[in-house]
Amino acid sequence: MPAPIPTVTLNNGVPMPVLGFGVYQVPPEDTERVVAEALDAGYRHLDTAASYGNEEGVGRAIAASGVPREELFVTTKLWVQDAGERATEAAAEASLRALGLDHLDLYLIHQPYGDYYGAWRAMEALQRRGLARAIGVSNFHPDRLVDLIVHNEVVPAVNQIETHPFFQRAEDHALMAERGVQHESWGPFAEGRNNLFGDPTLGAVADGHGRTIAQVVLRWLVQRDVVVIPKSVRRDRMAENLDVFDFELTPEEMDLIATMDADESLFFSHRDPAMVEFLGNRRIHD
Ligand code: NDP
Repeated sequence: MPAPIPTVTLNNGVPMPVLGFGVYQVPPEDTERVVAEALDAGYRHLDTAASYGNEEGVGRAIAASGVPREELFVTTKLWVQDAGERATEAAAEASLRALGLDHLDLYLIHQPYGDYYGAWRAMEALQRRGLARAIGVSNFHPDRLVDLIVHNEVVPAVNQIETHPFFQRAEDHALMAERGVQHESWGPFAEGRNNLFGDPTLGAVADGHGRTIAQVVLRWLVQRDVVVIPKSVRRDRMAENLDVFDFELTPEEMDLIATMDADESLFFSHRDPAMVEFLGNRRIHD
């Protein structure tokens, strides 16, 4: 059995496992099996989104697993189409129904587009009603994050942003730490882009510990106080990615990996007007 998964305490006192399981791009028809395997491997923190189209599969796997609800930490996300005060409440209820849950552990605004101020007020109300234990955001740059904080009551508990060795987000991290917003990485492996799994620098660090590059990357993020949610549909990799709590990278190794930062997204900029329009127009339901 791998070592237990530590938790961080969010700004409202809710504990969050520092390592979870992401299901982006897991096809709906495979999701129940994949999540069942992840729960069996020991994951207790699951990350999905309304826009992934697989909340039902996650819910079926949870129901069949027999894992007590209080041991699980389940995150889902509000899509842009459902931003706005009234639409957000309905979207949250739809996600809860799809997941078969009576509350979420974390509900995130998926993208900083549309009426996300209205969405945030609705999410504050959901939190007050106990339907979401914590609420947060995703893909928010520091300027948008601070604006949301300044004009609302609840400070987001989490900001989930692209973070990996080629895009480390050190400045975002410092600002979030100062504001009490937990940094969560999406794409910890950059989905394998830039030859991450064959990178010589990461490979040398991994060899030094008798570990894999995937484990070094996850360990490096966790040691930077970043929550991670790696995705894999393969059972062996699920176990590998969980097994990062019984070794430590040295300060020199941390510094060496810090030099890999190119400070640029390997996917797209959330400030690119064409992407703002594309994602803003994406419909996930009628
Ligand atoms: P990741 O960086 O986690 O990479 C996943 C890829 O790496 C898959 O191709 C997987 O292949 C492969 N992989 C996983 N483990 C290993 C391993 N040990 N060795 C070799 N290859 C491995 O990408 P994701 O985009 O999935 O990010 C993780 C999660 O973050 C998502 O699932 C989602 O929950 C969240 N996310 C959120 C976004 C947002 O906008 N908020 C955007 C993108 C992701 P295989 O499955 O075949 O094993």
